[in-house]
Amino acid sequence: MAPPTASNLTGTVALVTGASSGIGAATARRLAEHGASVTLVARRKDRLDNLAAEIENAGGTALAVEADITDRAQAEAAVQRSVEHFGRLDTLVNNAGLMLLGPVVGADAEEWERMIAVNVRGLLHMTRAALPHLIDAADEGPRRVADIVNISSIAGRVAWNGYGVYNLTKFGVNGFTESLRQEVTQRHVRVGVLEPGGVDTELGSHNRPEIQGAMITPFYETTEVLAPDDIADGVAYMVTRPRHASIGELWIMPTDQA
Ligand code: NDP
Repeated sequence: MAPPTASNLTGTVALVTGASSGIGAATARRLAEHGASVTLVARRKDRLDNLAAEIENAGGTALAVEADITDRAQAEAAVQRSVEHFGRLDTLVNNAGLMLLGPVVGADAEEWERMIAVNVRGLLHMTRAALPHLIDAADEGPRRVADIVNISSIAGRVAWNGYGVYNLTKFGVNGFTESLRQEVTQRHVRVGVLEPGGVDTELGSHNRPEIQGAMITPFYETTEVLAPDDIADGVAYMVTRPRHASIGELWIMPTDQA
């Protein structure tokens, strides 16, 4: 069999966090279509099992791993389980996230804790656990390159009133991504950030009803938002570049979102 090329993910393994819905599920499907074996990580195991079955029925290879990535031991165990099962890890998509909006004045501090736990600590736990395996893949793998794609947001580029702590987490993801890119790029682990504008997913539904009514629903009613597949296309583009080309940042917006 010919060795896989950078544009053909056959023989590689990708782990996608937050694969139980929205962007993560679409990304896992798309990477599997490109030939990657995919590890699906999230808390809702029934959803992961259904997606794994769908991918396998379509001729792909998938492993469902239930984990709360805010817990370091669970994040590390998810990476370990994937490596034990598939024998390697070439691609990490840090996609799991939470967006709880609202004013800072009088904010519910517990909402802040939950958001920081997933968007920041979860991403760090997964990245730390995955890096040795990604470095091995870049050293020894057939493509001799590995990838981390961090799903940030337009909210990692621009701050808005009412988005304060979500902005904090996503600006943080952007800074961390660029620092890590510089650290490992010459080892051929590419690290990039993808920043979507509005996408049709469950993300807004986790907000309190008054926030949904004031900040989420009006936007979705007046904007032709992106589909999760639009973001999956972006991730696939980033990880299928030739070894010498690294996409550090990709910003994807709905055309009618100013
Ligand atoms: P969804 O709410 O549809 O998906 C979020 C995913 O994160 C779910 O699969 C959820 O799975 C997972 N998740 C949440 N908490 C945890 C946890 N503790 N451990 C493991 N998995 C967890 O939203 P999106 O698909 O929209 O969000 C994906 C990413 O895209 C996020 O990082 C978000 O910030 C970003 N984004 C989204 C935009 C949008 O408009 N939708 C715009 C810009 C960025 P489960 O509950 O089963 O654990």
